[in-house]
Amino acid sequence: MSDYSRENFLDLNTFRGLGEDPAYQPPVLTDRPRDWPLDRWTDAPRDLGFSDFSRYQWRGLRMLKDPDTQAALHDLLCELRPRTIVELGVYGGGSLVWFRDLTKLMGIDCQVIGIDKDLSRCQIPDSEKSNISLYEADCSDLATFEPLRGAAHPLVFIDDAHSNTFNIMKWAVDHLLEQGDYFIIEDMIPYWDRYSPKHLAEYLAAFRDVLSMDMVYANASSQLDRGVFRRADMKE
Ligand code: SAM
Ligand code: MG
Repeated sequence: MSDYSRENFLDLNTFRGLGEDPAYQPPVLTDRPRDWPLDRWTDAPRDLGFSDFSRYQWRGLRMLKDPDTQAALHDLLCELRPRTIVELGVYGGGSLVWFRDLTKLMGIDCQVIGIDKDLSRCQIPDSEKSNISLYEADCSDLATFEPLRGAAHPLVFIDDAHSNTFNIMKWAVDHLLEQGDYFIIEDMIPYWDRYSPKHLAEYLAAFRDVLSMDMVYANASSQLDRGVFRRADMKE
């Protein structure tokens, strides 16, 4: 039987930005030895030799944040000293553990909250879940966010699920964010700017009285590109 007879093809869009394996797999070199002989030093390849996409990890958990983004978020955490970090989109969970470990190292009492519609791919072992709360819920339903009311501040809210983003941002401004808190749209601004620039500019402008773009972090990495917003001032 040829493969063409198969009943179903997976929707490859579901792997976009994620890859096919939520578990971290160390890099494998297929076209060169790991131990390169020094008497052939001049012939050594200069390219990476393995996929750079799936290699970002924190303590053996995949983390879908590149080194520039990690550096910028480190600086933001160090400056803000958040008491709560909310991340929409958990996937393997490495970023949640990284946020928890980093804030702990900084001596911050911080609760890290991860929300995902499918937590079956989360790789965080039970022994690593202190100060991390996981909620399986869909971001398309704003009721998902009600339990966040009452969270400690300063607070960083990261949209890394990319669903219903601007309605969630409005909910956060109306019900959650205090002055100085952050709302970060990761990854998507360049795509939206390419494919729907008028909507994007119009939607962002709608928040002009309540959020500003923090220019210290907004250009610090391609994943954060023009997506780092700070609650400007308290509501009347
Ligand atoms: N934050 C993680 C990191 O940096 O390692 C990566 C998150 S991954 C890019 C996006 C996740 O968003 C996926 O696990 C997916 O299940 C989740 N997601 C997509 N649409 C969603 C929705 N409508 N509600 C909740 N989660 C959603
Ligand atoms: Mg991301």
